[in-house]
Amino acid sequence: MGPPAPRCLGIWLERKCATEGVDIRTSTTATAVATAENGALKSVQCSILATGESYSLPCQKLVIAAGPWSPSLIQSLFPNSILDLQPSTNAGDWMVFQDPNPVRADTTSAVFFDDIVHEKLEYGGRNNGSIFVCGRRNFTAILPPPGKEDEPDQRVLSDLIQYSRRFIHQDIEGEACPALSILEKGRAFRPSTVAGLPRISEIPSEKLYCVESEAPTGVFLCYGHGSYGLTLGMGSGKLMAQVILGLKPDIDISKFTIS
Ligand SMILES: Cc1cc2nc3c(=O)[nH]c(=O)nc-3n(C[C@H](O)[C@H](O)[C@H](O)COP(=O)(O)OP(=O)(O)OC[C@H]3O[C@@H](n4cnc5c(N)ncnc54)[C@H](O)[C@@H]3O)c2cc1C
Repeated sequence: MGPPAPRCLGIWLERKCATEGVDIRTSTTATAVATAENGALKSVQCSILATGESYSLPCQKLVIAAGPWSPSLIQSLFPNSILDLQPSTNAGDWMVFQDPNPVRADTTSAVFFDDIVHEKLEYGGRNNGSIFVCGRRNFTAILPPPGKEDEPDQRVLSDLIQYSRRFIHQDIEGEACPALSILEKGRAFRPSTVAGLPRISEIPSEKLYCVESEAPTGVFLCYGHGSYGLTLGMGSGKLMAQVILGLKPDIDISKFTIS
């Protein structure tokens, strides 16, 4: 099985959520939270990015799952927070090109060349006749604001094209074809941490408000899946739901818990 295609996964998830009655509001951000006197969460202030329109949404349980933007979102919603997630920059430039030799329409595949080229180089053959390729990690890129694109490095893209012509894009005689048909390209940021472990946890009062209290905050975090969030996301979502509902998680998640 190949790596999951993010857009297809997103469409599948959206459909699943719709059948569960989930109300999805895109292009909307949370700008503030209101709490009751006992510290319990009361509501979230939302802002529609396109219009700037703002409204309050009643809320008892809030999950922060904003990928690499999670640390800054926590800081803006909870300015007294002392939660240090130790984020680390980990961007990747990628492109998608037409598969010159699609064998079967219903197969996917993953091929990793890291050991051969001595840097990250992974291919994902998709069942729509295209191939995804992702190159070396970028540890110095600047995270753009959420929803804004960052340009991939042209040198990395050139290397990806060279590698692809060498390893993948060959005609039947093994001759490299003159040009790749590139369908998409971009740069994305992985939500990575120094420790490399995700967080699937309620955020305790001490970390969120800098106030010692055993009372639950109702604010949860699902973050830090680094290079594996597409694969792990569904399982993490289930674990997060179990934590929120106070159920026993399917696996021991003590390593992912914020103490
Ligand atoms: C090049 C590349 C290749 C990868 N390949 C694989 C792979 O093969 N397999 C795999 O399992 N994983 C892969 N990953 C990793 C995977 O993409 C991530 O682990 C995963 O996307 C993390 O999911 P997330 O929901 O935590 O964060 P994200 O996917 O980053 O989603 C966070 C969302 O929150 C939104 N957001 C941020 N701030 C706000 C705000 N204030 N208000 C509202 N919304 C906000 C953002 O716009 C974004 O849509 C790859 C990553 C990269 C960069």
